[in-house]
Amino acid sequence: DLFRDLYEQVKRAPSSNTAFDWYVSLSNDHKTHYRVLVRDVGPLENGNRPEHSRERAIFLQDLTPLDELRKRHAEFLSAASHEMKAPLAAIRAYTELLLDGEATDESTREEFISTIETQAQRLQRLVENLLNIARIEAGIMKVHKQAISVNEILQEAGRLMTAAASEKNITLTLDLSPLYLPINADRDLMLQAVINLISNAIKYTPNNGKVTVKSHLRDEMIVIEVEDTGVGMSPSDAQRVFEKFYRVEAHKHMAPGTGLGLSLTKHIVEDVHGGTISLRSELNVGSVFSIALPKASSRTNSPYPVSEPVVV
Ligand code: ADP
Repeated sequence: DLFRDLYEQVKRAPSSNTAFDWYVSLSNDHKTHYRVLVRDVGPLENGNRPEHSRERAIFLQDLTPLDELRKRHAEFLSAASHEMKAPLAAIRAYTELLLDGEATDESTREEFISTIETQAQRLQRLVENLLNIARIEAGIMKVHKQAISVNEILQEAGRLMTAAASEKNITLTLDLSPLYLPINADRDLMLQAVINLISNAIKYTPNNGKVTVKSHLRDEMIVIEVEDTGVGMSPSDAQRVFEKFYRVEAHKHMAPGTGLGLSLTKHIVEDVHGGTISLRSELNVGSVFSIALPKASSRTNSPYPVSEPVVV
């Protein structure tokens, strides 16, 4: 039937070389978009093709991936602008309040300035995400690896995310290994990866929930876990969240986002640092994102003197 439909359309096409769009629904929610090129190929008569040649060749070009890419780009631009609008609006509003002299006492002034600072940081994170994705796609990511302490990165990330957590009255706890856990990593990129996970945990956890950041050593691998008591997700969503631009439909009302954070995080962990990232999640219970990274050899790389562990 499908080909009869195509055949009819080709027959109806004007005689000379033409093209038309052909949409095919193979299943309910999936439509394929073909560009159909029609060419007359019948034998020539006196060097010309007869007016109504009966022999036609058709060329099918599947444009569906291009359509999807265009749609995702449009969605991405709209999400990115949306995400930038909120912090910019807050920065402008608080700056105006300050300029209008609305902050009459020192503590109000400090509160306004600290809000501006927090919102500027949020904007900076977003721009960094976008830039890094662009660098990855252009293949020009610069990486400076050195031996650094995982706990130190987690503490810094925790410090940067405290304000976001307390805005939602979420308890952000660090449960770190007492060991010195060195990784051979690019500090800024790894910090970015961890911040993305904590930021998500806060975004997708309802008010008054809990987010716990853990570190430990497991079989010579250093494991970082970001655990939340949030909305979680279904196994089918869990399979797709690391894809670029993917956002769980039901979460879109919870927080603005671009669907880029996890794809960037995965790239940073796996491609840049040779680690792995995985996810365990249960709907309405919460999620645990785990990063496993090879332990850097402390003797050769550590900037700090570290004694060998004593085996008893
Ligand atoms: P963004 O948060 O900007 O939408 P991400 O790539 O960081 O993009 O995450 C993709 C999607 O994965 C999110 O839109 C959200 O639906 C889901 N997600 C990420 N982290 C969590 C989490 N901790 N709990 C529940 N859902 C999450």
